[in-house]
Amino acid sequence: MASDLATYRRMRDFACTPEPAGEVGPEGRRRFVVQRHRASRLHYDFRLELDGVLVSWAVPKGPTLDPGARRLAVHVEDHPVEYLHFEGVIPKGEYGGGDVIVWDTGTWEPAQDKAQRDPAKALRKGDLHVDLHGEKLRGRFVLVRREEEKDDHEQWMLLHKHDEHAVEGWDPEEHPRSVLTGRTNDEVAADPDREWRSEAPAHEAEVSLLPAPLPDAAIEALEELPGKGGTWEVHGRRLKVTNLDKVLFPGLDGEEPVTKRELLAYAARIAPVALPYLEGRPLNMHRYPDGADKPGFWHKERPSHAPAWLQCWENPEAADDETQAYVVPDEPAALVWVANFGALEWHPWTSRKVAMHEPRFALVDLDPGERTTWDELLTLARLHRTALEHLGVTGRPKVTGRRGIQIWIPIRPGYSFSDTRAWVEQLSRTVGQVVPELVSWKWEVKARKGLARLDYTQNAVNKTLVAPYSPRPAPAAPVSVPIAWHELDDPELRPDRWTVRTVLDRLEAVGDPFRSLLGVEQDLPDL
Ligand code: MN
Repeated sequence: MASDLATYRRMRDFACTPEPAGEVGPEGRRRFVVQRHRASRLHYDFRLELDGVLVSWAVPKGPTLDPGARRLAVHVEDHPVEYLHFEGVIPKGEYGGGDVIVWDTGTWEPAQDKAQRDPAKALRKGDLHVDLHGEKLRGRFVLVRREEEKDDHEQWMLLHKHDEHAVEGWDPEEHPRSVLTGRTNDEVAADPDREWRSEAPAHEAEVSLLPAPLPDAAIEALEELPGKGGTWEVHGRRLKVTNLDKVLFPGLDGEEPVTKRELLAYAARIAPVALPYLEGRPLNMHRYPDGADKPGFWHKERPSHAPAWLQCWENPEAADDETQAYVVPDEPAALVWVANFGALEWHPWTSRKVAMHEPRFALVDLDPGERTTWDELLTLARLHRTALEHLGVTGRPKVTGRRGIQIWIPIRPGYSFSDTRAWVEQLSRTVGQVVPELVSWKWEVKARKGLARLDYTQNAVNKTLVAPYSPRPAPAAPVSVPIAWHELDDPELRPDRWTVRTVLDRLEAVGDPFRSLLGVEQDLPDL
C-alpha cells in the first residue's frame, strides 16, 4: 500500500506539467480517475489514461467492489489528460454542466494475461481487464462491450472480479467524499475552487476561481528592504514597514526563529485566503510588539497614525472609556498593516459592523483542561460532529494552533448572541452528557479539576475566537487552521501541527475547508 501511494504521488506531480502523449508512468502503470459528476443526471465517470487520453465511461450507478453487481457503463468521448484531477463546476448550459468531484484516483495496469498485454487492442475488442490501485477502488475490474449495441454511445458492462479486494454489498454512495479534498459534491457546488470550460482548448479549459495569489515579486521586494524597514508595495498599497529583522517568535527544535519580515510575508500571502473571515468585521488585535515570549496585550482602538485607506468602524454604543473606533480589515493590505503593528493574533468579531448584535457563526470552543488528552479532545469533537450531522447542520472544525479545537457553524442573519449562546450551550451539554468524565461545567479553572470545558460563552458581542489562519503567539509561529471532519482521523493531526512556514503548502494541496461555509445561511434547529 505504501509503495502504491508513493507511486500515486509521483504520478500526481506529473499532472502539473504537460507530458508526451502515451507516456506510461513508473512501474508500467497508468493513471485513472473516477469523478462523481452531477450533471442533468448523477453518474460516475470512470476514466483510464491510455495513449495520451482518458478513455471514459459514464457509470450511472457508480463502480462497486461488489463482485455480484454488474453496472451499466456507457462508453463516452475520450477526455483530455488535463481533466484527470479536475474538481469543480462546469458552467450550466455547457456540455456536462454541473459539479464534479475526484471521487477516486490512483493507478491501473492491464491484467497479467496474454489477451490483455496490449490494452488498446483489448479496448478495441471490447473486453478490457484492469487492476486498479486507488484509495477506494482496488483489485480486478472488467469492462465488456455488450453485443447488441446500436446507438452512438456503446453500452458496456463494468464488474469487479471475485478477488481479495471484493466486498459484497459495497455501495459507492456510502463513500461520497473527494479523495483529493474530502469535499462532497454539495460542498464543491457551494463554493467551487475551479471551473472547467469545455469549449476551450484542453490546456486552457481549467480556470481557478480562488483569490489570486500574491506575486513572488512582492515578497522579493520585502526581502530586499533593510532591517530597519522601508516602504513596501503590496496588494496595491504602499505600506511603511519597520524592524524587519526583529525576532517575533522563538524557534522550536533548533529551527530558526520567525522574524517580523517572515510574519509580514505570511500575512501578505495568507491575506486573500483569510480575508473572507475578517472583512466587514471589527478586529480585536492581540499585540506582542516585543515578540511572543514577552507579555502581549489587547489593542482595539484604531491608532491615529493608521493610514487613511484603512477602514474603520465607530461603535455607536461605546461608553466614553471604551474603544471608540475599530480597525476593519476590508482589503488584503490591511492584514499586512495589522501584522506590522505587532498584532500576532487576529480576532474578528462574530458579528459584522452593519449589524453588531447579529452573529453570523455559532461557535463551539472545545477547551482542553490540563488533564485532557488529545484523544479525549478528538472524542469531544467527533461527538459534536455526530450531533450536527443528526441535526442536518453544517459546521467545520478548526485547530487553534495551541491546544484546542473549535467548530464554526455558519448561520443566517437575524439571530442574536443570546440565541447562539443558548443553542451552543444546549448542544454542548447534550454532548457532555455522553462523556461526563471528560467535561466540567465549572466556571473556575481550579474547580474544573483538569477536565475540558465546552465553552459557549464566547457567543457574545465583542467576544471573539482567533481567526482562521491567524498565527498564535508561541514558538515557531503556529497557525489556527480549518480542517475537514475526516482529518480528525488523521494520526498526524495536532492542534499546533501547522505554522506560518507550512500552512501555505497545505492550502495548495487541499484548499481551505472553511471556504464551503462562506455564504451558507442556516437556521438553528430546535434542540
Ligand atoms: Mn460526466
